[in-house]
Parts: sequence; structure tokens; C-alpha cells
Amino acid sequence: MIKTRILSQEFKRLQRLMVEEQLRTRGIDDERVLAAMSKVPRHQFVDSWWEELAYSDRPLPIGYNQTISQPYIVAYMSFAAEITSEDKVLEIGTGCGYQTAILGEIAQCVYSLEIIPQLAEQARRTLTQLGYKNIKVKTGDGYHGWAENAPYDAIIVTAAPEQIPQPLIDQLAINGKMVIPVGTEVQDIIILTKTKLGIVEEKTLPVRFVPMRRKAPDG
Ligand code: SAH
Repeated sequence: MIKTRILSQEFKRLQRLMVEEQLRTRGIDDERVLAAMSKVPRHQFVDSWWEELAYSDRPLPIGYNQTISQPYIVAYMSFAAEITSEDKVLEIGTGCGYQTAILGEIAQCVYSLEIIPQLAEQARRTLTQLGYKNIKVKTGDGYHGWAENAPYDAIIVTAAPEQIPQPLIDQLAINGKMVIPVGTEVQDIIILTKTKLGIVEEKTLPVRFVPMRRKAPDG
């Protein structure tokens, strides 16, 4: 009991440091993103083996050769998508569900697709345990998006395709933003805005995400 209490206080301390040292100092100044990053318990999304490193400035393994993104990248993508509390958001690449929870704090509702069924199931379990009722996770190939609930005010993609999938552009609302890493070995985060007059793309941070697959590993 006592050990658990000390540990959770220690996690809170590390989480505050993460927000101050990794996010604010690097220019993340959106209070809603910072509040979400201060609230969501990142250590509960990783295996207990890794939980002491949950708030450190790096990605961590989540099994199945996949990773939970570095906190700064999660915050940056949420910030770049300019999400409001009325927005419906699509996420591609649920992974452990951490970015999903951050989006769930900021947006009205979140639809998230994960190609590896076991990860989708695990993320669903963690998000339910934490009480998120505005998030739906489905197993599937995010290349095709989730047409049923389109259009989306924002789309966040956390696995890198070589080119932006057309179905995702089609499912974005007018004035919506898509934040997506594009490329092969080294990628750039592209911020795509859909306007009435057409598509505007802005190339931003260089990053290294896992590639967007077109098939689950065993299938
Ligand atoms: N957003 C996650 C990052 C997960 S890593 C987090 O914060 O932890 C990227 C995830 O994308 C992996 O879980 C991988 O299985 C998934 N992925 C890869 N290709 C995909 C595809 N075509 N459709 C849906 N998910 C995909």
C-alpha cells in the first residue's frame, strides 16, 4: 500500500517534469494539450518493466515490434492538429492507446484504428479502465480510414506511409487538418489542411515512425 502511494506520487513528479522540461521549453504552449499531457497516466500504457521510464524523453517498446511515441511527438501532433472540444478525430495506429487518450481529453470523440488485433484489444482495455467513453478502437487497416464516421475535423496518423493515403484526404472535413509522418527510412511530419480551394501541405519535423503496414504481421 505505502509503496504504491509513494510510487504514484513519484510518477506525478516525473509527469510534471516531463511537461515542463520536454514540452513547454520546446514551444508547446497550448494549455489544453499541456493539461491532457499532465493528466493521462503514461506509465499505465506501458508494460510494468518499462514504467519507470514512462515519462522520459524517448519512445518505448510496447510489444509486437511497435513503440509508444516520445512524449514531445505526441504533444506536437496533438498541438499541430489544432483540435477543439467540438471535434471528431480519427487516429491511425492506436498502439498502446496513449495518444488516443490524449486526443480523448481534448476532442469530443475519437475513432482509432490499429492493424494488430492484440494491441487494439489491449488499448481498448486500458482506455476502458481509465474511463474514456468518447473513444472507439477498431482493428483494421487505417490506410482506408473509417468511412462510416467521416468527415473528421482532424486526422492523426502515427505510422508512416510512403505517400498520404487518398481515403484519408477524402475523409477529412473542409478546414480539417491531418498530421501525418510521410516517407520511408526518415520521414517528415506533414501538416495537411483541406480548404475549399484545395489541399495545403506544410512539411515540418523530421521523425522516425514505424512504417504503415498493409497487413497484420501474421495475416
Ligand atoms: N499512437 C501510438 C503509436 C503507436 S506506433 C502511441 O502513442 O503509442 C504505430 C502503430 O501503428 C503500431 O501499433 C502499428 O501496429 C500501427 N499500424 C501500422 N500500420 C497500420 C495500419 N495500416 N493501420 C492501422 N494501424 C497501423
